[in-house]
Amino acid sequence: MFINPEFTLYQAPKHVPIIYPSQLNTFMKKLNLWTGKLNGKHKKLTDLLVSMHLVESPYHRIPPYEYEWLRKGIICSSCQSFLVSVTGRKVGCGDCGCEESIDSVVLRSVKELKLLFPDRKITTKGVQEWCGGIVSKKKFKNILSKNMQAIGYGQWTYYE
Ligand SMILES: [Zn+2]
Repeated sequence: MFINPEFTLYQAPKHVPIIYPSQLNTFMKKLNLWTGKLNGKHKKLTDLLVSMHLVESPYHRIPPYEYEWLRKGIICSSCQSFLVSVTGRKVGCGDCGCEESIDSVVLRSVKELKLLFPDRKITTKGVQEWCGGIVSKKKFKNILSKNMQAIGYGQWTYYE
């Protein structure tokens, strides 16, 4: 049974009972219509499947990283290029030509920062540094206070 919707199997042997991603829905419907009685064999199979269930994938391989090691700056949302420039309230990509509003770019960068460093507080200074200082601190402050909740006061303000 292949569950990856992007999977393709070429030259599969005909006698093997394979269920392809495109057949999954029909297969599940058929399975749900089955009215037979459950017995000990089913219970055993259920227990086996439950015992084999993995919450975390063993194939996750996140490389070690530190804040200082990472390149600062904003990246294009469609091609991940660092070659972006700010014009007014728009950010344009020098590689693929796509445009995005500055607010959306900054909020996307905040999401990155939170995902990579969940213990770091989101501050104007921190976000400005993370974004490579593409716009003024005042602009960053405006964007953060418009879209997030400010906690604290003055230089200790952070956003959630
Ligand atoms: Zn791009």
